[in-house]
Amino acid sequence: MVTDSVSSAVRAFQAPKGTYDLLPPDSAVFLAVREAIAAPARRAGYGYVETPGFENVELFSRGVGESTDIVTKEMFTLTTKGGSELALRPEGTASVLRAALQANLHKTGNLPVKLWYSGSYYRYERPQAGRYRHFSQVGAEAIGAEDPLLDAELIILAVDAYTDLGLRNFRLLLNSLGDRECRPVYRAALQDFLRGLDLDEETRARIEINPLRVLDDKRDSVQKQLADAPLIRDHLCEACKAYHEEVRALLTEAGVAFEDDPRLVRGLDYYTRTTFEFVHDGLGSQSAVGGGGRYDGLSEMIGGPALPSVGWALGVDRTVLALRSEGVELALPAVTDVYAVPLGDEARRALFGTVTALRRAGVAADFAFGGKGMKNAMKSANRSGARFALVAGERDLAEGVVQLKDLGSGEQTAVPLAEVVASVKARLV
Ligand code: AMP
Repeated sequence: MVTDSVSSAVRAFQAPKGTYDLLPPDSAVFLAVREAIAAPARRAGYGYVETPGFENVELFSRGVGESTDIVTKEMFTLTTKGGSELALRPEGTASVLRAALQANLHKTGNLPVKLWYSGSYYRYERPQAGRYRHFSQVGAEAIGAEDPLLDAELIILAVDAYTDLGLRNFRLLLNSLGDRECRPVYRAALQDFLRGLDLDEETRARIEINPLRVLDDKRDSVQKQLADAPLIRDHLCEACKAYHEEVRALLTEAGVAFEDDPRLVRGLDYYTRTTFEFVHDGLGSQSAVGGGGRYDGLSEMIGGPALPSVGWALGVDRTVLALRSEGVELALPAVTDVYAVPLGDEARRALFGTVTALRRAGVAADFAFGGKGMKNAMKSANRSGARFALVAGERDLAEGVVQLKDLGSGEQTAVPLAEVVASVKARLV
């Protein structure tokens, strides 16, 4: 009885709304995507950084911006028993910069500090296809240098990651948001324009706090009125214009296609100058697979020195969806190369030893655990995707051999026990 009530209680649990579990075999694709996104950054000298899953809430309200949706609506916040206000991290950049500043990495005289990261992020969003409350990003940040080559480097690394994965239908949208010199002038011009439009109260309030975000409003009724809105590109100062032209030229030289998108503003307040987003057309409304840009003022916003920086974060969940929408199958390493099927107790011991030896020699090997009968064990062997089954009964062991069965052709060979590892390795190459 007790068991019954426990199991029905357990059955009642579901993953929380807006989350999903990663399970084999799909989880292998996820891992491969994470790895593929990180690989180009690692090759370019970015070192791995890992920060806590939660931070003081103020890091995000100051860093990401008090008026952003992320901070006002989407943070999972909590108060600790000691009274600290924490938030599950909604994004990576503020934490990574906080960690670099805390460890004084910027004082080692070796700028830029180049870091990459991979992990879980949390936003209390309305869940839909491609939009979750728990999702994964891989990110890269170059901290402490103002150099258009660095902006170009990061964008190229992201493009190379997608390309290496076999993704084709993604587009790079590029803009410059100006700097503390020219952005305020543009902001004022945009506010003047927006104040003359027919907008709801919430949007009118946004004009005063963060007018650039109004450009990002997805509603048709708003977009229609924005046709003649002033654009930042017509307000860039000479320095920002030159910087942006250089980034564009470097990308062109590297063979990276991009689309100028003078309305790209993105949902985080810290961006300056170069801003970009990768979109994929097979994903419906949640089309952004990754994005980033320069954030020259963020360090000062969170109490650090002036440290011009640039970075990106690519969404792992949406990259997996994008690959699926294009029908791209990743070449994943075999989960199991060899599957051992023992017949009898003596064979269980002997083959368990052989499986251990195979694994130590770098061969992916598994075993028919639980004393399965031959028929069931062979079914498991086939289901495992292994290329070979190792079958042994008492008679084989008496002769000092095991049967190595090619599960593709059905061909079977007796191999001396002592030679199994070498023989399997030779056949697997
Ligand atoms: P952002 O930090 O908003 O620029 O997001 C960077 C990338 O993270 C996006 O392009 C998405 O691929 C991914 N991402 C952001 N929010 C979510 C979410 N709620 N669910 C799934 N992926 C997300």
